[in-house]
Amino acid sequence: MTDLTHLPQRHALVETCLAMNASGINQGASGNLSVRVEGGFLITPTSLPYDEMTPADVVEMGFDGTYLGSRRPSSEWRFHRDILKARPDVEVVLHAHPTFATALAVHGRGIPSFHYMVALAGGDSIRCAPYATFGTQELSDNAVAALEGRMACLLANHGMIVLGKTTKAALALAVEVEALARQYLYAHLLGEPVILPPEEIERVADKMRRMKYGQSPDGNAAPEDTARPRNV
Ligand SMILES: [Zn+2]
Repeated sequence: MTDLTHLPQRHALVETCLAMNASGINQGASGNLSVRVEGGFLITPTSLPYDEMTPADVVEMGFDGTYLGSRRPSSEWRFHRDILKARPDVEVVLHAHPTFATALAVHGRGIPSFHYMVALAGGDSIRCAPYATFGTQELSDNAVAALEGRMACLLANHGMIVLGKTTKAALALAVEVEALARQYLYAHLLGEPVILPPEEIERVADKMRRMKYGQSPDGNAAPEDTARPRNV
């Protein structure tokens, strides 16, 4: 086992899959996960429950579609490959069929900026890619297009895809997108929700960027009104 390539990434992939189940965004073997490595990517094998998966079961693939190992890659390897190829800014692709995101997706609906947290996915909406049969090149092409400038999308009559720079970030965003889908659906109980304008989402995104980089914990607050550690 010690001669396995990319052992830390294999462990991270298995742990994240277990966390996907624990968080409730995944059930059974419907989800899949990939992590970029040199020359290609690691991906979950097809039809193996996560609680039975070991680092040795993880499949290593090249961008040419060839793979190494005793197991076959997830049937959705095409969109994992194509997204990692198209998006050098991301290292991880996470796919699942969580209930609320999928409930929106079966209506072909994405998530508009009804809540400022939509900005976490990289823009003023989370798009829904048109339907295509699972595992097809058409589905992959639709997903790549829906993810342009975004870190998440829904897939019509199917589920969601979330991207990340790390497995942890991808999982956290997947949980957030599922929460947004739940909130958006519940908000419809009282009619069409209020949608925030694009300029407000841009302001939020800018504030999130500055908070992330630790330049100012309170975003654009005046200096005297900024939270700061107390000197005692
Ligand atoms: Zn799927």
